[in-house]
Amino acid sequence: MSHKHSMILLYLIVVGMVLGLLAGWYFGEDVLIVKWIGVLFLNALKMTIVPLILAAVISGVASLGDVRKLGKPGGLTMLYYLSTTVIAILIGLVLVNIIQPGVGVEMTAEALEVGQQKVQTSGNQDFSDILLSLISPNLVKSAADLQLLPLVFFAVLFGTAVTTVGSMGTSVINFFEGLNETMMKIVGWIMYFAPLGVFALVATALGEAGGGDAFLATILGIGKYVATVLIALAVHSVVLFVIMISMSNRGAVYLKDMARALLTAFGTASSSATLPLTMECAYEHGLSERSVRFVLPLGSTVNMNGTALYEAIAAMFIAQMYGIELGLFAQILIVVTATLAAIGAAGIPQAGTVTMLIVLGAVGLPAEGIGILLSVDWFLDRFRTAVNVWGDAVGAAVMNKYMISTEEKALEYALKDD
Ligand code: ASP
Repeated sequence: MSHKHSMILLYLIVVGMVLGLLAGWYFGEDVLIVKWIGVLFLNALKMTIVPLILAAVISGVASLGDVRKLGKPGGLTMLYYLSTTVIAILIGLVLVNIIQPGVGVEMTAEALEVGQQKVQTSGNQDFSDILLSLISPNLVKSAADLQLLPLVFFAVLFGTAVTTVGSMGTSVINFFEGLNETMMKIVGWIMYFAPLGVFALVATALGEAGGGDAFLATILGIGKYVATVLIALAVHSVVLFVIMISMSNRGAVYLKDMARALLTAFGTASSSATLPLTMECAYEHGLSERSVRFVLPLGSTVNMNGTALYEAIAAMFIAQMYGIELGLFAQILIVVTATLAAIGAAGIPQAGTVTMLIVLGAVGLPAEGIGILLSVDWFLDRFRTAVNVWGDAVGAAVMNKYMISTEEKALEYALKDD
């Protein structure tokens, strides 16, 4: 896509989002007649995910050439993701301790009941569940359920193994290279549909919440909590921006180039569904294929800065609401468990609300407390998903610089040897 085209598309997506908000606000539930357009867009994106992830990760890992070369970039990527996740949680904790949004909030019986239902339907979440979700006994079923973590794991394994089988592996790698290119072509076409898709998704989300007035009433009810999450997300986005400027040699234009993916993340509330567009934007910006194909798919499944931050704030909010004092040790436990819970959360709408049960369980908070958060969760989910995607994008930019500089060094040595 030419630069001019992508800019026009960006403006159109912004227009789509604003019109979606206005339509949902004024028409309330009546706007649901456009729901199918959003579903169509979402389905089109989801359609590409499984073949794209397999092709991108397998060819990305295989392009590293040698199994031993995977260790360092892989390890550093994970380290980078873990560090930014912890930074996000700390920002959340500092703000929630300062603002104290839960103090004085009354828990209604109705909210308690909603929370109770949520806990029952989500079942028990545990640390071991996160580890178990890494390896799937049935890849086809995981693919059908769009559980991407086991697919990424398998693809890394496959990409590594295929480089060790000599010339027989070459045609397999070529196949996945070709598949990747083809899938990206399709994603490029779907992107043209994004303005309409984002319009419909945003309008229906607001419409389903009862339109503008109902939405305002819910937001005002726990406004301080909503404000704390939004402020913390904004602060973390700026921190990521500074990391990007200082560690990746990229300027504000990177943010502009990623904007189409970020707005789509807002529209879909799903970082997995947005992944194809995130990759497309990163390619167009000019990141190397390796960082796009390896770092972004990994990030979209394990790196969720926005989700981690939100889980920490939500847990503290519930504690404050029940008047439960959480000391330093409990808050450290929140850092650890929110990190794991964010890694375990799938990139789908409101997944973080379910894995938050891990955090609540670890520090002994009543899980029914999430009832009161659910009314605004669909809304906050959109912002945190956009931050999740921004976190992945910055990670890819940082790793891109690292990978390129190691490649240059290797080339220098090779030339010297010659
Ligand atoms: N919706 C988020 C995502 O897809 C996950 C969550 O926080 O619920 O990234």
